[in-house]
Amino acid sequence: MPEADIGFVPTMGYLHTGHLSLADRARAENKLTVVSLFVNPTQFGPKEDFTKYPRDEERDLALLERARVDLVFIPTAEDIYGSRKDQALVHLPGITEVLEGSIRPGHFDGVCTIVAKLFNLVRPRRAYFGQKDAQQLAVIKKMVRDLNFAVEIVPCPTIRDSDGLALSSRNVYLDATARTTALGISRGLFAAEKLWQAGVAASEALCGEVRSAMAQGNFSHIDYVEVVDGETFDRLPEAKPGAIIVVAAKVGTTRLIDNICLK
Ligand code: AMP
Repeated sequence: MPEADIGFVPTMGYLHTGHLSLADRARAENKLTVVSLFVNPTQFGPKEDFTKYPRDEERDLALLERARVDLVFIPTAEDIYGSRKDQALVHLPGITEVLEGSIRPGHFDGVCTIVAKLFNLVRPRRAYFGQKDAQQLAVIKKMVRDLNFAVEIVPCPTIRDSDGLALSSRNVYLDATARTTALGISRGLFAAEKLWQAGVAASEALCGEVRSAMAQGNFSHIDYVEVVDGETFDRLPEAKPGAIIVVAAKVGTTRLIDNICLK
């Protein structure tokens, strides 16, 4: 059992208000708050943006000091993985193989492995994850259940800019035109949510609403727009309360994900 009442927020840094909302919640609910900053190499594919991922440790530390976080953990890749190539990897079947998992093979193995390691190093009582990365949240919940980690996973709502765009470290890549296109995602999700609230449950109709809002912009690629079960991430022909509409698309080379949970 953990010795102290630690609330933990794992991040890859380049912090924004979304990350800080997790830290605030952790501070409110625990004696000690720990935030980690670690751009985890094992969750990036060989052609992804690991080297180019935005980093600004000094700025992150200033933000975390202002947020009165007790401890910031900034390990190196060597600290976490050592130099051997034959390290253990945590693999969850099923949910890690669809959607984000099928487009980014191995991504969730990297996520599960780093989160498992960080849980063992930090030994938190509670860990805070954003609904923004809905599939990641569901994967971590399953890992904790399947492997009996003594950690409570606390889901936190997605924080958005005033125009609706979900905050993301990768938004820094977007220029004004790209940002206008990107806004089609949240606009589409909100429109689909309205449709659902008006009684439409057919996934085809809900996804069609998202796609038509996105069609007004200039996406270089739409990876998926789907209605899925919020726990298993199985595709649903009909939405139900707790279902999630998930979207992943590229604007230029910047890949964005977003979702909305149907109540
Ligand atoms: P990252 O640094 O992108 O790995 O994110 C670290 C944590 O912050 C994850 O649990 C994310 O889901 C969460 N997060 C990222 N963006 C947001 C957001 N806009 N609102 C709430 N949580 C977020």
